[in-house]
Amino acid sequence: MIKNAIHQILKDKFGYDRFRPLQEEAITAVLEGHDTLLVLPTGGGKSICFQVPALVKEGISIVVSPLIALMDDQVISLRENGINAYAIHSNVSSHEQNLIYSKISSDSASILYMAPERLLTENMLRYLDTMNVSLIAIDEAHCVSVWGNDFRPEYEKLRILKERFPKVPTIALTATADSATQKDIIEKLALTEPKHLLGSFERKNITISALPGTDRIKEIRKFIYNYKDEAGIIYCLSRKACESVADSLQSFGLEAAYYHAGMSGDERKFVHNNFLYDKIKIVCATIAFGMGIDKSNIRWVIHYNMPKNLEGYYQEIGRSGRDGEPAESLLFSSYADVVKLRSFIDGSEASEQFKIVQSQKLNRMWEFANASNCRTNMILNYFGEFRSEACGHCDNCLNPAEMIDGKVIAQKAMSAIYRSQERLTVRNLIDVLRGSDRSEIKKWGWDRIKTFGAGKDLSPEDWRAYITQLVNMGYIEIDYLNYSKLKLTKLSKGVLFGDEGLSLAKFIWQEKKRTNKKEPVQKITEYDIYLFRELKKVRAEIASSRGVPAYIIFGDASLREMAHYKPKSLVEFSNIKGVGEYKLTEFGSYFVDKIKEDENQ
Ligand code: ADP
Ligand code: ZN
Repeated sequence: MIKNAIHQILKDKFGYDRFRPLQEEAITAVLEGHDTLLVLPTGGGKSICFQVPALVKEGISIVVSPLIALMDDQVISLRENGINAYAIHSNVSSHEQNLIYSKISSDSASILYMAPERLLTENMLRYLDTMNVSLIAIDEAHCVSVWGNDFRPEYEKLRILKERFPKVPTIALTATADSATQKDIIEKLALTEPKHLLGSFERKNITISALPGTDRIKEIRKFIYNYKDEAGIIYCLSRKACESVADSLQSFGLEAAYYHAGMSGDERKFVHNNFLYDKIKIVCATIAFGMGIDKSNIRWVIHYNMPKNLEGYYQEIGRSGRDGEPAESLLFSSYADVVKLRSFIDGSEASEQFKIVQSQKLNRMWEFANASNCRTNMILNYFGEFRSEACGHCDNCLNPAEMIDGKVIAQKAMSAIYRSQERLTVRNLIDVLRGSDRSEIKKWGWDRIKTFGAGKDLSPEDWRAYITQLVNMGYIEIDYLNYSKLKLTKLSKGVLFGDEGLSLAKFIWQEKKRTNKKEPVQKITEYDIYLFRELKKVRAEIASSRGVPAYIIFGDASLREMAHYKPKSLVEFSNIKGVGEYKLTEFGSYFVDKIKEDENQ
């Protein structure tokens, strides 16, 4: 009975034919009155897990969300599906707030979004005491934990809700929580015997690749060449980098803007909105840009600098391809990034224990960036989802590394380190091996050591890649506390002085790596491109007349289905992905008319 009802709502209200993994389990758990912790990756479809129960149950459903932009986006999107949804936050006047209260009192079911500070005021709690609260959803629940990626003290106070509304089922949702954080969420929110639903973190539609941080602008231009009219984000570590990357891209005629915390609220809003409405295609941003973005058609994410941990990295690339269509991510990393991130950790006021954890997380991130085996598996293992078969959508799977005998390469590098009394940085080592005439090399007499110039046969990029592999394999250590100088380890001796061998993954330029990319997910590839463009225009008109971003009306995947199946009646149209009752009656005829018109030409 419940099963039929929730399927009906999924189809009628949201226009989807089937549930994604764990959605049905989560919805059923909530409807049966259980507390629930749902961990699903970004784009996994968490929202529906509280929105569907909210529509089944009479009364008011409370959704706690940390960011105004996020709330507004969801509210607009729900309203476009004909659902009674509201948000109360600091930008809502008391007059508007009263209007919302009076609407809620006449709705049979409604969804109310609030930030924790607002929800926990005594006035609001008293108001809710008088209402029939049917469920409480806590979005971005990892904010409750100091072990999480984005701790917010006000989230800790949400525990009050369970004391105040002990009978109301609570569902906590997050896309980013390792197992310690998951346990912490359950404890901090005082969830009682919760159903613990842990979805796969794999995002099959995102192709993952990584490159050393050299020639980044050139690589970025090559990368985005395939994405001319599509939206993407470039994450940078500093404000200055955001501006300079945006500048360089603009000088090549690309529409890029920057976004960081040093800009005024208005400037930021301008960039944010224009990005949402597809007027700006590329945003170079610090991580301040992101959590509030629910835009489903971001096609790519580039990390200009390496993020501080895998949680952050995976969350950021997860902002691409939320519509399930193919998306691509590219990570750059360099020793300079590591040094900078490490100095942030060392200079912070946090406890020693916290610093150690952060430092280990940074090491894992660096290993990931330089891995020569399946990157997806490294991430899944990190989040406790152990798997060994290759993913098929990361650079290392698409182009498995060719292994070469690395003994001589390793010996040359180690010997130079040894003969310089362990005083070389990576850059110096490469210069010594390639026989550089840089003055610093001469100054220290490194041009006189035996290995000087012994590695001329390899390019600096080759050397950088091999040295990194040797570091990751434990043959060389970087002494971060001493100007990042290279040291030998107990493993080095066997190779340098003994007869131990080793293999290295042959370094291949990324350009070659990316060419024979597989299509990671199934999508409609044959459709009428001309009609697709026309339908995009129809969508743009509807979106601008309603003052909402285009993707809120229909995603590209829906338009592509229309341009493939060419429905010529509303009944046929209702079978298109993303078409629910409300969108069918509101927009159906515009698209059907355009399709018929196209047919008659
Ligand atoms: P999350 O909050 O987990 O990041 P969302 O709830 O924003 O993800 O959902 C991501 C996208 O997937 C949205 O565009 C949403 O409408 C869509 N979606 C959710 N559930 C389904 C489903 N069962 N079938 C098809 N699309 C879905
Ligand atoms: Zn892989």
